[in-house]
Amino acid sequence: MATIDIDLYSDTQTRPTAAMRDAMASAPVGDEQRGEDPTTNRLCEMVADMLGKEAAVFMPSGTMCNQIAILVHCRPGDEIVADRTAHIINSEGGGPAVFAGVMLKPVDGVRGIFTAEQAQEAIRRARRHAPRTRMIEIEQTANSGGGSIWPLETIRSVGAVAKEHGLIFHMDGARLLNAVVASGVPARDFAEPFDSLWLDLSKGLGCPVGAVLAGSADFIEQAWQWKQRMGGAMRQSGSIAAAGVHALEHHVDRMAEDHENAQFFAEAIANLPGIRVEPDRIETNMVFFDVSQTGLTAAELHQRLLDRGVRIGENDQYRMRVVTHLDVTRDQIAKAAEAVREVVLEASHAA
Ligand SMILES: *Cc1c(COP(=O)(O)O)cnc(C)c1O
Repeated sequence: MATIDIDLYSDTQTRPTAAMRDAMASAPVGDEQRGEDPTTNRLCEMVADMLGKEAAVFMPSGTMCNQIAILVHCRPGDEIVADRTAHIINSEGGGPAVFAGVMLKPVDGVRGIFTAEQAQEAIRRARRHAPRTRMIEIEQTANSGGGSIWPLETIRSVGAVAKEHGLIFHMDGARLLNAVVASGVPARDFAEPFDSLWLDLSKGLGCPVGAVLAGSADFIEQAWQWKQRMGGAMRQSGSIAAAGVHALEHHVDRMAEDHENAQFFAEAIANLPGIRVEPDRIETNMVFFDVSQTGLTAAELHQRLLDRGVRIGENDQYRMRVVTHLDVTRDQIAKAAEAVREVVLEASHAA
């Protein structure tokens, strides 16, 4: 395999910084399952406080946060309303069907974002024949939607529909803090209408592992039981939770740089022959682009870029995704854009 010098595959590709490793090495630890790990407790308090929720629990991954939230809130046969591009629909191995036994009702949002009217339409009338609509789920930012930000007003109006119908409102906040940094809306305001939400530590925050799920004290108590059942309860987890504490203190504001880098990359490739950047406006740290008019498939472009030491994800047959993060500099972003230019021009000359 060619060495990858510039990895834009995902913001999960970061390595812990030296300062983060120091924080991890020196963290006070105890038994997490017994509530005796001081660093994990601190991380959970920080996140609960930031989100304005009563309690929080440390999880190995964001996927486990989603699956456990669904397990707590739903019963088999219930239905969850979510955007068609949602991670819980497309990227969690059918977990909602496997664990909670629930149905998923995809809604066709724009860039991963749907309206209160669409949510309203998706809710089923109570009938013996129909599954029971139980939850509305949204993603902040909407990953496959383009790293797009759910506006606070839209969240509030969809949340009002959930409330009116007695439904649970859940946020997959894998990149909530990207939305916070880009929009200036406090995390607490975004979080307010939700019964449960979580944020990922291993994405733009740059931690090696972990996510934190938050909600009411009662919800978190039930989530803890599922965590125990599923083997997610840990021991001296402070060693990894310390990375999260460090990231919340040092890596949040800097995500603005990632957003500027995404914008820079989008502009650098926007006018290349056959490339269509979608959408024109880059909101956070992701750039999706269509390559169908270059004469190459995403897989071919992916491989030719790899040969030049640049990794860019192939999202679809003709769709590629760049994600910026703290392990790529502006200079590397410029080099990556240059590599795309070379490959695309070569292909257009060959045609
Ligand atoms: C990455 C991601 C997840 C899953 O998080 P993991 O920590 O990888 O399990 C869920 N939702 C979205 C939108 C994501 O991007």
